[in-house]
Amino acid sequence: PSLEYELTRRRIQTNIVEIWSYFSSELGKIRKLIGPGNAELDESIKQVLLQGAEHKRSLFSDMDQLRRVDGYEAWRHKESQDLSDLVQRRLHHLQNPSDCTNARKLVCKLNKGCGYGCQLHHVVYCFIVAYATERTLILRSRGWRYHKGGWDEVFRPVSDSCQDPGISYAYNWPGKPNTQVLVLPIIDSLMPRPPYLPLAVPEDLAPRLKRLHGDPIVWWVGQFLKYLLRPQSATRDFLNSSMRKLGWERPIVGVHVRRTDKVGTEAAFHGIEEYMTHVEDYYRTMEVNGSSVVRRIFLASDDARVIEEARKSYPQYQIVGDPEVARMAAVSTRYTDTALNGIILDIHLLSMSDYLVCTFSSQVCRVAYEIMQTMHPDAAYRFKSLDDIYYYGGQNPHNRRAVIAHKPRTHEDLQLKVGDLVSVAGNHWDGNSKGKNTRTNQGGLFPSFKVVDKVETAKLPIYEGV
Ligand code: GDP
Repeated sequence: PSLEYELTRRRIQTNIVEIWSYFSSELGKIRKLIGPGNAELDESIKQVLLQGAEHKRSLFSDMDQLRRVDGYEAWRHKESQDLSDLVQRRLHHLQNPSDCTNARKLVCKLNKGCGYGCQLHHVVYCFIVAYATERTLILRSRGWRYHKGGWDEVFRPVSDSCQDPGISYAYNWPGKPNTQVLVLPIIDSLMPRPPYLPLAVPEDLAPRLKRLHGDPIVWWVGQFLKYLLRPQSATRDFLNSSMRKLGWERPIVGVHVRRTDKVGTEAAFHGIEEYMTHVEDYYRTMEVNGSSVVRRIFLASDDARVIEEARKSYPQYQIVGDPEVARMAAVSTRYTDTALNGIILDIHLLSMSDYLVCTFSSQVCRVAYEIMQTMHPDAAYRFKSLDDIYYYGGQNPHNRRAVIAHKPRTHEDLQLKVGDLVSVAGNHWDGNSKGKNTRTNQGGLFPSFKVVDKVETAKLPIYEGV
């Protein structure tokens, strides 16, 4: 397919979400204005919302059908396989230099003072820097807060043949180009900031990625996770036996409800019914053509009560999930071997689900979404986040380009000229996004459909011959 065809197809997909977010939220506001005084009007708006939702599901279903029958689906599968194989070969090559003693290395300490998802993102960031600077990644993980024995007892070592920094003195980043062993700080303290940090993808792969995928950076991050999370056999056995015990089956929607220490500090509280509305909508979209689908969710949380509550409130749903795993995820028992198994299992099962409903403010769900990309040619649209848009902690600015001009409707609005770059802060999921126009330095709201994502690229080694 041409790049234009794929971009247009995906833009329609995105904008069905946007037009529906806009109308449903505006109609919701009008209902509130009317109040309980006018039951008749309220009822007609309710009917419009119901009919509109059905219309929207039908459009989604048509878009899915279009993708299936446009003749390019076999190409999408092959291209995603080829690209992934290429990147995996490059990573393998980087990690297994022919002369380990003299190879240039980058040391990364796993034990960043945060949760598992955050630590994984830290390692991926190290790995991206290693890839960009052609340094073999050395992962220091003894005394890991989740497992004292370290990474290699859980996942395969990041290198089969080169795990030791050697005798050379290790200097702190940035060192000099010829410094043999460098130690990398966490992303927040990285100075100077290289251009290849997320959200950039490698320039040599960018044309293929832009054609294949709805959000290339998520695909790119997913490839590092694919390499990193190759399980040791005990881990694989644990995952397989847990899936059998849980009765995990597809189709299934993965739901992640982050509570405990996150709520009120870094994210707002969302009731289970908010998640379930989107789950129900997903299943009803699958059923547009009259088929009937078993209602099943995989429910992961750090609060066991969420699973118990969902089982009570949604008896029509088959709810796969283990309250015991959630109980261990509480802050007091979080950094133990049992809790580590729990979070590995939960992320694995979320990533294998057909669709994700969660809050992207949580790194748990963002990691699951990233890994999900390794299971489909393009899983960029298989999620509903109740809060943030996708981001990578410590990322460079996220820019979108205006493709339709915008005249401010209120004093809160941004003015846009075609071609303007907007640094986006978030989506309000009511048809509008928030951002700053980099041309005028003005901040404000604008209709999300008037911009398209700008895929950032960085010139990186091309690993010739690999
Ligand atoms: P964030 O704080 O949600 O952005 O994600 P982090 O991964 O950095 O830290 C949260 C930690 O809480 C996780 O790594 C887990 O240890 C625990 N946790 C949160 N949600 C879940 C869940 O759904 N299941 C399990 N097993 N653990 C969770």
